[in-house]
Amino acid sequence: MAEETLHMRTDVIVVGAGPVGLMLAGELRLGGAAVTVYDRLPAPTGESRALGFNRRAAESLDQRGLLARLGDFRWGPMGHFGGVRFDLGMLDEDHSGVLGLSQARTEEMLDGWATGLGVPIRGGYEVTGFRETPDGVAVTFDGPRGPGEDAARYLVGCDGAGSIVRESAGIQTSGREASRGMYTAEITGVAPRPRPIGERLPGGSMVVCTPVGDGRYRIVVHDKGLPPRPDPGALTFTQVADAWQRLTGESVHQARALWTWACGNADGLAAEYRRGRILLAGDAAHEIPPLAAWGLSAGLQDAANLGWKLAATVDGWAPDGLLDTYHAERHPVGRQLIRDARAASMLYLGDDDMDPIREVMRELAARKDAAGHLAGIVSGLGIRYDMGPGDHPLLGRRMPPHHELTGPDGIRTRVADLLHSARGLLITGDEETARLAQGWTDRIDIITTPPPGPGLDTVLVRPDGYVAWTSPGGDQPITRALGRWFGASRATVTATARPAPHPLHHQRR
Ligand SMILES: Cc1cc2nc3c(=O)[nH]c(=O)nc-3n(C[C@H](O)[C@H](O)[C@H](O)COP(=O)(O)OP(=O)(O)OC[C@H]3O[C@@H](n4cnc5c(N)ncnc54)[C@H](O)[C@@H]3O)c2cc1C
Repeated sequence: MAEETLHMRTDVIVVGAGPVGLMLAGELRLGGAAVTVYDRLPAPTGESRALGFNRRAAESLDQRGLLARLGDFRWGPMGHFGGVRFDLGMLDEDHSGVLGLSQARTEEMLDGWATGLGVPIRGGYEVTGFRETPDGVAVTFDGPRGPGEDAARYLVGCDGAGSIVRESAGIQTSGREASRGMYTAEITGVAPRPRPIGERLPGGSMVVCTPVGDGRYRIVVHDKGLPPRPDPGALTFTQVADAWQRLTGESVHQARALWTWACGNADGLAAEYRRGRILLAGDAAHEIPPLAAWGLSAGLQDAANLGWKLAATVDGWAPDGLLDTYHAERHPVGRQLIRDARAASMLYLGDDDMDPIREVMRELAARKDAAGHLAGIVSGLGIRYDMGPGDHPLLGRRMPPHHELTGPDGIRTRVADLLHSARGLLITGDEETARLAQGWTDRIDIITTPPPGPGLDTVLVRPDGYVAWTSPGGDQPITRALGRWFGASRATVTATARPAPHPLHHQRR
């Protein structure tokens, strides 16, 4: 029997309760939007593709107080690019990432966070398409009780590489067809020799073996001989073990496989991250082969970038063009992600002809400036968005979340802790700047203490943690920067308005 049409009162429908959809749902809720998540799986599978994520993804979670919810994990170096190692220790800033953390645990945490914020997650509902309505989008699905429809003002496809949302919207992707396959299995009962960053083998093949705790190992086989479009569902563990033995000479056939996974090395980038009321994030927007730990990391940052902008749009305070900055900022990052993944893939999986390039790369990577550049790619800390005129080195970059502010009472607070509510942040030691910003205190918090960093007297930080204005260094008035990112001033600022007296207290409406 067909399920009744559910005209739910929701602002945003997110398709996909993977890590990106869940993160986005939480971000939207923090911004005040009503959101419903649909996923075709009745419940999470517990399978884990990612085993960690990069520094900037970790910081994005930290800004919402979510790192502490992940329990035990370790920070690790992630100091290689396509197998070419570089020394993170010589850099001035910590670029290490989160290692040894299963994607299932990350998803479980995000699920708990989003659900706790009041997000309904409808498991067992496969979205089949959508149509645009005069004031929104009607989404069709196959649910446990048959087909149905739900309506929202916006629809976001976080539904992975084969995105039905992207396909139904007619958004094209550009990229490469798969030319080779890759097999993965998580096994227990044997202890293969660890090769955590991969062991290249003659002729352009590679094997990886990562211990994941509790006597379990993740083994990965990249072999030119594997079919480019393997069917993940049809893969047997015997096929993985055969391929492993062919390349390493070692048998793991007696192991117990917890799960197996097959994929090709295709990549693809959606031409538009936004088309009207339809948006894409995560693997639905950019697909890369799982060679480097970049896919999940990039997707979490998409969610952090999009969440507050879409919530502001739904709430009605978004300035003109704010939502379009999602594509303007994240699409170039996606393009670079694909380029970098191809470069890393050539270094990793190219045959012996690549050796001279590898040697040159190794020489370069020994230099601090080159290592810093590579670390910026791998960690995500190299990202710089266009925030308009200004020449301060922090402008457009993320505000270091571990930097601390000290109030006159001596209390120290990390920048990350001031961003938990996903509001903008004006940190200023200048009374006049704080006074001028009073018209935005329903959207930003004003902290009246000088920001950390030599010579800075003000920074304006967006809810996603990126610096939108600095003084000195900002070539436009603070009011223009506030208007550009946070919309119109609520009220005319009067000469008598004064910032609240306590320097580290948030000022809210
Ligand atoms: C073997 C492997 C190892 C990896 N390791 C790492 C790593 O170490 N670090 C890293 O950063 N990245 C890694 N990645 C990449 C990472 O797993 C992905 O980038 C990440 O899962 C993308 O998250 P997502 O939420 O965008 O999509 P997904 O995780 O694919 O989630 C999409 C969700 O949408 C649902 N869905 C799909 N279609 C529909 C529909 N029509 N209706 C309703 N629901 C639907 C699916 O059920 C799913 O729950 C790895 C990938 C693989 C394959």
